[in-house]
Amino acid sequence: MVNMKDKNYFFALDIPLIITKQFKNKNDRLIQEYITDRDKLCILYQSRPDCIRTPTSGHHLIKRRYLLSRWHPYNVFGLCVNCHKWAHDNEAESEKIIIENAVNRCIMSDDTQFYKLKERAKK
Ligand SMILES: [Zn+2]
Repeated sequence: MVNMKDKNYFFALDIPLIITKQFKNKNDRLIQEYITDRDKLCILYQSRPDCIRTPTSGHHLIKRRYLLSRWHPYNVFGLCVNCHKWAHDNEAESEKIIIENAVNRCIMSDDTQFYKLKERAKK
């Protein structure tokens, strides 16, 4: 369970100017904990036939090298091992379905929240 006092560590606007390896490691761990706690079921459950339901890792839609979105809760979603592999093999299709499902599950109120983040993250 993530201590919500720690939540500022992975919100986009709070990223410090100098990012140390320790900062990355700590926040990579925190975001994974947060995502597994938030997404009790694989976000692609009900969208894919070979889904095994239990999310084992947080999948980044916008690649991890973009630090503005690396620890943002709208960019990381819990996937089971089968769906995670599929998502990497089918990036465009999986992004669309993951965002749709996130809105349906009320993780985001609408898809523009993700697309705005994506636009900012890559600048
Ligand atoms: Zn799955």
